[in-house]
Amino acid sequence: QKPQPSDTAIAHSFTPKTIGRLAREVGLFSEEVEHYGTTRAKVRLEALNRLKTQPDGKYLVVTGITPTPLGEGTTTTTLGLAQALGAHLHVNSFACVRQPSQGSNFGVKGGAVGGGYSQVIPMEEVSLHLTSDTQAVMAASSLVVDTINARVLSESTQSDKALFDWLVPLRDGHRKFSLSQLNRLKRLGIEKPETQKPEEIYRFIRLDIDPETKTLSGSVASEMMAVLALSTSLGDMTRRLARMVVAYSRKGKPVTTEDLGISGVLATLMRDAVKPSLMQTMEGTPVFVHTCPLSDIAQGNSSILADQIALKLVGPEGFVVTEAEGGAELGMEKFFDIKCRSSGLHPDVVVMVATVHGLKIHGGGPAVTAGSAMPKEYSAENLTLLENGCSHLKRQLENARAFGLPVIVAINTFSTDTDAELGLVCEQAKLAGALEAVPCSHWAEGGAGAVALGQAVQRAAEIPHQMNFLYDLEMPIDDKIRAIAKSMYGAGDVELLPQAQQKVALFSKQGLGNLPICMAKTHLSLSHDPERKGVPTGFTLPIRDIHANLGAGFLYPLVGTTSVPPQSPAFSCFHDNDFSTESK
Ligand code: ADP
Ligand code: MG
Repeated sequence: QKPQPSDTAIAHSFTPKTIGRLAREVGLFSEEVEHYGTTRAKVRLEALNRLKTQPDGKYLVVTGITPTPLGEGTTTTTLGLAQALGAHLHVNSFACVRQPSQGSNFGVKGGAVGGGYSQVIPMEEVSLHLTSDTQAVMAASSLVVDTINARVLSESTQSDKALFDWLVPLRDGHRKFSLSQLNRLKRLGIEKPETQKPEEIYRFIRLDIDPETKTLSGSVASEMMAVLALSTSLGDMTRRLARMVVAYSRKGKPVTTEDLGISGVLATLMRDAVKPSLMQTMEGTPVFVHTCPLSDIAQGNSSILADQIALKLVGPEGFVVTEAEGGAELGMEKFFDIKCRSSGLHPDVVVMVATVHGLKIHGGGPAVTAGSAMPKEYSAENLTLLENGCSHLKRQLENARAFGLPVIVAINTFSTDTDAELGLVCEQAKLAGALEAVPCSHWAEGGAGAVALGQAVQRAAEIPHQMNFLYDLEMPIDDKIRAIAKSMYGAGDVELLPQAQQKVALFSKQGLGNLPICMAKTHLSLSHDPERKGVPTGFTLPIRDIHANLGAGFLYPLVGTTSVPPQSPAFSCFHDNDFSTESK
């Protein structure tokens, strides 16, 4: 069997249609489309207004087993399924995916959205700047930091701490303030110590940054990105940006971007970023690529607006396929409890992606390390490991079924999988409550390889169902955390460390107890320990601290040692990539 060409070579062998043609095909008016070159466009939110009274299409969410270093291919499956529906089963389809973040995209995969014959094209455009949304988020984040620093610097030229330090103390002040400045500072709750003369101000502002890494994340890990992905209109985004707490006064009073007087300019910087970017798969079906909140510290799902517009455009007989990053316990739980709560949308079917090699790792297979030879367990048949690993699939299927929707298992097949192995996974998936389990080969064959999956999804979408959330918002904060930990992660209990306990009390007192919970947990295990594969049991989930993202509208507990922002890989694949010479 001839090896398949590289993702880059495959992507370059397809010629995209012009974006104007694609926009017309999906039913957009020319005045609703803003072109960025010839193969990308932003869609104006007026389109959603025009289509407001149209019924929505069917809404599919793609999730997966807990990811392993060998790659599960949930994005590839999202695109393969959209290609199967749109280009082979001839129903309207739309895929909605996250924009790849440069750090993780280059670091792990080398620059593509999807892989093999199920990708978004042109790959350079989707992998790099796209339509500069990330750059807008970075500019907005920098503006917040600059504003705070400018304030601190204007009053203290010789701070004894680094500029980006956790605490930025002001040298005992000897600066006179104008009345309007004083009023502004008063609004921030900044106080003057008794020992000083009335016009002398002493205060510090705390930046909400990671105390360990002392960095402020610029784009994907910032709350701005989470805000962008959860906004349902320009006005909603503006209000969310204004509510963001970016500092604390000395008295511990939260300081919002509105308090700093910069919420308007932040919204202006991000007003184009709120419009989803239209692109296409290799088979010419439409894709929205929009926003990239991470799945561990944020909600890990592409934008609400992209899904909403796509659901209108496909019409009641069509399908929108959206991806929830990471394992079902993480990205999918957040899809339902955070994203669907904000959007009011009701999904129809869950597609759970699994791979034979991934399940073997969960079944106790040897670790895979970069640079060393692939253990033979993953390239040769091994039914024992696989059957062990199916307990992990079963666990994630229980997680998916907890939300009340029919679940289809998509086995993303690799060339080394055997018929016996695929048969075993199908059998185990159905025993664990999957409506159907379908091996698919969209990576090797494009949409044609996922036609059976598309048909299974079409059948499942006809089944009447009632979606439910995992927890009520009215529950106390620690009970919500416990509900997620026990039912999704399989934890025996939860331990709130003192800092987290204080935050529960503080947030409850501040009236923030009704916000949904966005767990900041590793995506590499059902538990808080990335090394524990399979189905960890009997563990107590430690909650180190809890932060509030008031713009995004969730509380995020820090589980175990999860750091904010997450660590980037030391060696990135961009060393090997030179799109400038390879691209057509
Ligand atoms: P995820 O969304 O789960 O992170 P992706 O869909 O981005 O995964 O795929 C990760 C990598 O795995 C890509 O480089 C893709 O080409 C590769 N890949 C996906 N499916 C297959 C497959 N069936 N066979 C070989 N490689 C695959
Ligand atoms: Mg993905």
